[in-house]
Amino acid sequence: AVPTGGRDELGALLRAMATMRDNIQAMMEREVSQRRSAETLLADALQSSREGVVVVDAHGRIALANAQALQFFIGLRSAVEIGSSVTALANGQADAPAALVDCARTLSRDGEVQLADGRWLRVSRSATQEGGFVAVCSDISVLKEQEAGLTQTNLRLDAALDNMSQGLCLYDADHRLMVVNRRYGEIYNLPPGSVVPGMSVVSVLERSLGAGHHPGSGRVDLVREAEAIFAAGPDRTYFQELANGRVVAIEQRTTADGGFVATFDDVTDRRKAEARIAFLAHHDALTGLPNRILFSEQVDAAIAQAGRSSGFAVFCLDLDDFRPVNDTLGHVVGDELLKAAANRIEACIREIDTCARLGSDEFAILQRGIDTAEDAAVLARRLVEVLGAPYVLSSHTVTLGVTLGITLAPHDGTSCEKLLKNADVALARSKVDARGSFRFFEPEMDARLQARRLFEVDLREAVANEDFEVHYQPIYCLNAERICGFEALLRWNHPVRGRVSPVEFIPVAEELGLIVPLGEWVLRRACEEATRWPDGLKVAVNVSAVQFTSASLVTAVRDALQATNLAGHRLELEITESVLVANTGATTAILHNLKMLGARVSMDDFGTGYSSLSYLRSFPFDKIKIDQSFVRDLCAEDGTEFIVRAVIGLGASLRMTTTAEGVETEAQLAKLRAEGCDEVQGYLFSRPVPAAELPDLIAHWNGAKRAIA
Ligand code: C2E
Ligand code: MG
Ligand code: MG
Repeated sequence: AVPTGGRDELGALLRAMATMRDNIQAMMEREVSQRRSAETLLADALQSSREGVVVVDAHGRIALANAQALQFFIGLRSAVEIGSSVTALANGQADAPAALVDCARTLSRDGEVQLADGRWLRVSRSATQEGGFVAVCSDISVLKEQEAGLTQTNLRLDAALDNMSQGLCLYDADHRLMVVNRRYGEIYNLPPGSVVPGMSVVSVLERSLGAGHHPGSGRVDLVREAEAIFAAGPDRTYFQELANGRVVAIEQRTTADGGFVATFDDVTDRRKAEARIAFLAHHDALTGLPNRILFSEQVDAAIAQAGRSSGFAVFCLDLDDFRPVNDTLGHVVGDELLKAAANRIEACIREIDTCARLGSDEFAILQRGIDTAEDAAVLARRLVEVLGAPYVLSSHTVTLGVTLGITLAPHDGTSCEKLLKNADVALARSKVDARGSFRFFEPEMDARLQARRLFEVDLREAVANEDFEVHYQPIYCLNAERICGFEALLRWNHPVRGRVSPVEFIPVAEELGLIVPLGEWVLRRACEEATRWPDGLKVAVNVSAVQFTSASLVTAVRDALQATNLAGHRLELEITESVLVANTGATTAILHNLKMLGARVSMDDFGTGYSSLSYLRSFPFDKIKIDQSFVRDLCAEDGTEFIVRAVIGLGASLRMTTTAEGVETEAQLAKLRAEGCDEVQGYLFSRPVPAAELPDLIAHWNGAKRAIA
């Protein structure tokens, strides 16, 4: 305190001193308050900073750590409080908590560390004047994540590049290679690492030259090529054929920065496949022979030439009996056989001729430069002979026949279509007349073929509309002296054709495969009808050989029995020996399966085939039906009587019932009775009649009209 003075000089001095003191005090207060606010600001800034800041003094003790630093490092707070030395902790001071040691180690060097909670920190330290340091810790987790993402992307890109089926080179505007993948080296057969980023276009091309891909060109050519690549400017695609025969498709695209990217695709296999496809478009895959398209082209060419030179012939060939072989021995054998047949045909023709495969077992030949029909006939005879010789295949020996139709150009036609059609007509005719032979086309054949086509159309329609009827012919048992059953016989009444005989339409239905649905229809009808007959009367249904090649026969019989509720033993299935001709295990198995359903199996038309006797051994038939041709001649003096006697005897000893077909006279009946025949069937008893007439028939012969439902 400054004493208050008087009005004198001292007093004035004292007042001045007091004023000075006040001024100094005020000044000091102002200064202190100013410094305080600066400190607060600094402390605030430090505390709210997103960086962690740790100040370490010259003794290694933590002098200060801001909030963010305390948040980063667990345990830091206690280190601050205890005043532990960071240096000592980092050097592994005994019994310090692990978190604290970690924290100390992190703070004692610059760099990036990952915290236990997964965050990434970047620590950068700067020394203080007094000998300590300040460590600033920034959270770089997001940065790290982005970095990792980028690395991932790069790895994926690398993987994609390396697994590309195409080679790739990316050049910058200075013609320096920036990116190259593994496939590029593979395509050009370059040792790994021989083409690397940084190389010039010319050096890259030199490597390819070194690998021997450009015979005949040198470095100068390559430089020119490289210049051309850049001079070419916009995108281009071209093919390069390497010395090793491989073909590379190269695509070049300029990039936005003035460089370019080139892809290299080894298209050798694709080219081969394309060539193969082109070949297949004109050839048959199995035999390698020209197909219909190529054949037509060749015939067209021959037509264009005809007139100037001599004529030519077109042959249509059909392998006889190929289908049964294919069906019974399987497609592998069928294919082998077709190839063998194709080879034989080729061996028969000259180089100027063409052989083609048109369909499954249909072939065609274009015989060029012939003067007379005899020239064609010579070839035809040769084909019949050569193709008819046995085929020794890997697992079977097979014999085939061939039937041919021939048409002569330009006489018989001046278009390929017409010539083939006419040859086909001649073939169809030849097949009807004599298989295993040949015929030349004649105009009137066409009319016959048209008629046949019409017949087929009508038959198809009839099958679709079920325009059929089943008639029944009684089978008479000689021991019981009564009717023991009926044979179901198919009838077709066409509005224009009238009544068509089954002898006429059954073979056509067989050829067209229509016999399968038709046969099933008859079976169902007949079984249904039989359920209306007095007990014990059987129904006999004829089954065609073609039905045996279809898998559904056993199912069809089972279904018919089930649906109509007819006892299996009342159904007889009549088969002819054609069923057994291609006797395979499958046929016999089907027959046994039919027997398992309870059905009886008869051998129809016995004696008319080639080896009826031997077929009797292949399956235990229930019945033999002696063909009507024997019955007809029974009273003639030509020994037929003895044959019939022998067959009846044979049946008896094999415990098979014998039925004689076509009995028309009392004399025939008397003979059969005397020989001990079991059953007879024929006009003498009744013609086949519609179902409606059966009650009267049964009443007449069995005297039991009442018993009919
Ligand atoms: P098939 O099975 O041998 O039938 C006997 C044929 O002889 C029948 O001819 C019948 O009408 C005829 N017939 C019967 N008694 C006499 C007679 O005393 N004298 C003469 N001359 N003929 C007599 P149809 O009905 O014309 O049948 C001919 C052939 O057609 C049958 O011969 C059979 O092989 C076949 N067929 C008939 N219906 C069917 C059928 O539903 N399916 C199959 N796959 N074939 C059938
Ligand atoms: Mg029959
Ligand atoms: Mg018969």
